[in-house]
Amino acid sequence: MKISLRILLLALASIAGATFMIQAQTQQPMATADQAPEQPQQPVIKTDAEWRKQLTPEQYRIARKSGTERPNGEVYQTFKKQGAGTYYCVGCNAELFSSNEKFDSHCGWPSFYDPSKAKNVKSIIDPDGSRIEVRCAVCDAHLGHVFKGEGFSTPTDKRYCINGAILKFVPEELKKSD
Ligand SMILES: [Zn+2]
Repeated sequence: MKISLRILLLALASIAGATFMIQAQTQQPMATADQAPEQPQQPVIKTDAEWRKQLTPEQYRIARKSGTERPNGEVYQTFKKQGAGTYYCVGCNAELFSSNEKFDSHCGWPSFYDPSKAKNVKSIIDPDGSRIEVRCAVCDAHLGHVFKGEGFSTPTDKRYCINGAILKFVPEELKKSD
């Protein structure tokens, strides 16, 4: 009787542990850093195994397999509350977007009307011609899509609809140099 109680307690503890891990995995906040990362000077090319090791499963699924995060998720809620700052690629640290071009499109994903470093963001027309995909020009990570002419009152009337999970945010007040 004593032994079975101990086993039961151990089983309960492991279930609680597993539940905690699942919650931690599904509720990932956006990656952040306390200072601007060093900028890559050349294309970043890694093997699939290296990407799997570096990125979280969610980041890997989006960046390397052109996945899409859940709209209005934890990352988006975090994004909405963020103040001034800069957004970098989680794959290679290249600067992509900043809060200067951030706007609320109510679409459920982080939205910007332009990249902050245009050379680091490339656009590719989807094979069926329906949408324009946006990728990191340095490490070729899938970022999201860009839509034009939707009638937003922004300087470009473009909506860069970006997966927040592949962004790394550095708040302005913590950014050491530029
Ligand atoms: Zn990148």
